[in-house]
Amino acid sequence: MLYGNRFLTEDAPDGPFPETGMTSLDAMRLVDEELALEGDPNRNLATFVTTWMEPEAQRIIAENLYRNFIDHAEYPISAEVEQRCIRMLADLYHAPGETTGARTQGSSEAIMLGALSLKWKWKERREAASLPVDKPNLIYGGDVHVVWDKFCRYFDVEPRIVPLQEGKYVIGPEDVEPLVDENTISVAAVLGTTFTGHADDIGAINKLLLGIKVERELDVPIHVDGASGGFVWPFLYPDSAWDFRLEQVRSINVSGHKFGLVYPGIGWLVFREQSDLAEDLVFYENYLGKKDATFTLNFSTGASMVLAQYYNFVRFGREGYGYIMEAMQKNARYLAEKLKAMGYFELIGDGEEQLPLVAFKLAEGKEYDEFDVSWQLSAERGWMLPAYTLPPNAEDVKVLRALVKQTLSREQIDHLAVDIAEACATLEKKGGAHASERKKIKRSPGY
Ligand SMILES: *Cc1c(COP(=O)(O)O)cnc(C)c1O
Repeated sequence: MLYGNRFLTEDAPDGPFPETGMTSLDAMRLVDEELALEGDPNRNLATFVTTWMEPEAQRIIAENLYRNFIDHAEYPISAEVEQRCIRMLADLYHAPGETTGARTQGSSEAIMLGALSLKWKWKERREAASLPVDKPNLIYGGDVHVVWDKFCRYFDVEPRIVPLQEGKYVIGPEDVEPLVDENTISVAAVLGTTFTGHADDIGAINKLLLGIKVERELDVPIHVDGASGGFVWPFLYPDSAWDFRLEQVRSINVSGHKFGLVYPGIGWLVFREQSDLAEDLVFYENYLGKKDATFTLNFSTGASMVLAQYYNFVRFGREGYGYIMEAMQKNARYLAEKLKAMGYFELIGDGEEQLPLVAFKLAEGKEYDEFDVSWQLSAERGWMLPAYTLPPNAEDVKVLRALVKQTLSREQIDHLAVDIAEACATLEKKGGAHASERKKIKRSPGY
């Protein structure tokens, strides 16, 4: 092809496996041109996941894409870097002594593994007392991520879900107490919910479970889902005890690719003590002449994101993460003030400990709804700002949510605020007529 490229005038291959190939240049152009229509991560206010890393980190990632992390025997340094990260996280979360954990693909894998260990540990306790092990249950609120429902279904555990209510979007001890029994493998508590960014009352749940341990001789552990909050709370709210400072907290997961500030593909599971990992779940094998232990659902995966996580830990330290989290929080508050001043919106849970985001809804009596605002903003300005309904029994509550990330500058927030005000002005003029012009699509809040 002397001018242009093949796909200026040809359709992209999209069905049968191609009989022949094409030049590398054509293939690259084809993929690039397709992606030109993809959403722009810089205008994506929906995602918790990292959309920007420093060039030096990007270089480490690019240079290590060929390294298979699971080959511990060939790549012992990458394995050691994983262990360093786990030790640093255990320190950040106030583990009392030596501990253990795992690198995972994200919080979902970390939660599956952590919850499996809780199930196994419960089984061990029951079997030691010659008690039946056929009816395990797990307690959590409707404010959790879908992965907890998945765990229960995949691994045959009865979910005991505390429904939300209008005005109450996290759970506390009063919700947990009536659900606890001898078959409860754990209470899963969220630090930074995807819906509003707030935390379950982990301190008070811990207190309740300590009481139950004494009075009913039931030792019910807490697992903290810190997918988002695990890299926010230690820096913004260091005096809030939600981690291993609380006796019943036995395991914590966190997504490296959310506020750990690494690109997608990295999560962490950290146990309080080595004995909290059920030994039965660790597989030992002889691989290429060396004994190796694995505790994973996946196997082969790149080493890049582990190395990038370590890069961030040593590059930023507590001071750097603290600086970045505070900057995001300040900007979230700045946006929140602007939204309040517009007169169209109410903030949700303003002033409470929260992830750096703004969750808000329309004031009463509008002829259009949050979905219309989201749609209008995307149509007028290309911002991806999600609208969604809350989980049962708060499903009548519609919410808009803007993540305020490291890359959202003051200048951009000013533009965003103007764009939101203009979207509302357009909808006011149309008297809500816009709503009938499009299909009402139920969206997930985005992760
Ligand atoms: C994002 C999220 C998850 C899932 O994490 P991944 O890293 O995307 O697998 C689980 N729980 C909460 C609270 C989350 O925010």
